[in-house]
Amino acid sequence: MTDSELLQRTRELATRYLESLPERPVGPAVDLEGLRAALGGQLSEEGESPTAVIETLASAVEPGLVATAGPRYFGFVIGGSLPAALAADWLTSAWDQNAGLYAISPAAAVVEEVAAQWLIELFGLPSSTSVGFTTGATMANFTCLAAARDAVLRREGWDVEQDGLVGAPPIHVVVGAEAHVTIFVSLQMLGLGRARVHKVEADGQGRMRPDALQEVLSALPEGPTIVCAQAGNVNTGGFDPLEEIVRIAHERGAWLHVDGAFGLWATASPRLRELTAGIDLADSWTTDAHKWLNVPYDSGLAFVRDPAPHHDAMTLGAAYYVETAGAERDPYNWVPESSRRARGFAVYAALRSLGRAGAADMIDRCCGLARRFADSLREEPGVEILNDVVLNQVLVRFTPLGSDPTEVAAGDAQTRAVVAAVQRDGTCWLGGTTWHGRAAMRISVSGWNTTEADVDRSAEAIVRCAHEVQRVPA
Ligand SMILES: *Cc1c(COP(=O)(O)O)cnc(C)c1O
Repeated sequence: MTDSELLQRTRELATRYLESLPERPVGPAVDLEGLRAALGGQLSEEGESPTAVIETLASAVEPGLVATAGPRYFGFVIGGSLPAALAADWLTSAWDQNAGLYAISPAAAVVEEVAAQWLIELFGLPSSTSVGFTTGATMANFTCLAAARDAVLRREGWDVEQDGLVGAPPIHVVVGAEAHVTIFVSLQMLGLGRARVHKVEADGQGRMRPDALQEVLSALPEGPTIVCAQAGNVNTGGFDPLEEIVRIAHERGAWLHVDGAFGLWATASPRLRELTAGIDLADSWTTDAHKWLNVPYDSGLAFVRDPAPHHDAMTLGAAYYVETAGAERDPYNWVPESSRRARGFAVYAALRSLGRAGAADMIDRCCGLARRFADSLREEPGVEILNDVVLNQVLVRFTPLGSDPTEVAAGDAQTRAVVAAVQRDGTCWLGGTTWHGRAAMRISVSGWNTTEADVDRSAEAIVRCAHEVQRVPA
């Protein structure tokens, strides 16, 4: 096969997979041992032809693939790939651009610049905002908190990039009780410590309580302070009340960071925007494009109101930010990496194919489908919806029929058994979580291609599994 024939064949394999998505079982069809047996062995001495490699790879991984890009994957907060984004991602591989520097790929640099501007406008962020295209929200949180660390210490006359943290004024870090684990890992990597943080109590929907934030901040001695809030709780979808939180944090002179890995997308929808009131007043924001924008992995976004600390915390070049109007934008100034994939192409393509109305519509549609899921499940005996369905997340709890719903252990066992049965069934895939001490099934609707029929079919499968589990003695 010529190189071009190999790519034609690869296109066939990819298309066949994509066409199988609506009907293939959503979960994997092979276990760990099976995959190791199919893929392992010694590295050959002589190598193999590219055709043989691709054929073997495609058939060996096939049963271990999870249809996360399909319409009935509701685990974690995942999302699929919009057609334009997937196609742009194929081209990104073919073009093989290094997006580190304008000089290495002017096209990649300018596409990021344009996509960044579109995102700032879509989210209603301040026009000064600088943007970094990261691997995901974890590195976006890291980037934003590095900027925060720079800014709060510089105000104390300390240059953390040059002098490090040894001997620096201590930074108070305040986070919501339900902050995402990646906030803690970012703090760990930044030398701020994951256990030194002050936690602020959350309410029944996992939202930071402003009165509790006020109390925590009042009890802290003066000094540089970073507050981490959240837009979109991974269990409930709830939003910290940002208007009040921003005010309280800024009264103290603290930096306010908002982790909006999926929740920031609510700002793109006029119908949901009130959930995010006050968000534009924060100092930095994280989101993912690979979640709710439905672009292929990997694709996160870091936004910082003041470009100076963002630049100074990340740059490989000159230490201090100087505004150079009209000059080219070097992507390496805004992310922890130098050489990297030109992930801006897929973001650009996704935004351009949706437009503002299409983006709002995709977000609204997912939220409407989450409500539809909740409404159809809540009708069933022995089923309880634990959260206010304000966004795309639904928490479901199952209790054995005829048992006392306040009996936690029986409900936990029933809920876990239903989750396992649904995963085996394969009609859809969703995971389990623990919500305020009780086991729950977590449904997240984030795929561009999920329809009402997919939700109805999945809800039926869940109810069927719950009945089957009911007949199994505990
Ligand atoms: C998913 C998520 C993250 C981490 O994002 P990655 O893209 O997996 O790095 C951080 N915060 C929240 C709220 C999330 O939902």
